[in-house]
Amino acid sequence: MDCIFCKIVAGQLPGIKVFEDARSLAFMDINPRSDGHCLIIPKTHSPTLFDIGMEDLAAVMNTAKKVAMAIKASLAPDGMLVYQLNGRVAMQLVDHFHIHLVPRWENDGVDLSHGFQPGDLDKIRAVAGKIIEALSA
Ligand code: AMP
Ligand code: ZN
Repeated sequence: MDCIFCKIVAGQLPGIKVFEDARSLAFMDINPRSDGHCLIIPKTHSPTLFDIGMEDLAAVMNTAKKVAMAIKASLAPDGMLVYQLNGRVAMQLVDHFHIHLVPRWENDGVDLSHGFQPGDLDKIRAVAGKIIEALSA
């Protein structure tokens, strides 16, 4: 199957991973809407909320909470945008279920109507390091 997120799970494409368990994986978004933008996915391919099984969904939500707490502890955002898109009409671009965690700061200028902006990989790796440290604290 030609799915970029399945390839990241399989190690066939690089991904800046921050956490994984048996069913789920958290990694950095390479076009971050803000510093610390993470994606949480099931390791097994499911395109949308309509397809994903309850056990995978529970694992993904559990990991989303865990990573959100680590982002809060390490980056001290003022809030966090959590979103998940289903179908092209809802602006889903990658057809492998994923939850976005987007830390938000007052006056950060994040505008979801803007297109993607490739992030600085060194900066994304540095932020990932802080999240990983908080996860292991
Ligand atoms: P969407 O399907 O619209 O919810 O968003 C897909 C997200 O995946 C976007 O925020 C992209 O920046 C992100 N993305 C696409 N390819 C990769 C990749 N290879 N590694 C990390 N994030 C990616
Ligand atoms: Zn997939």
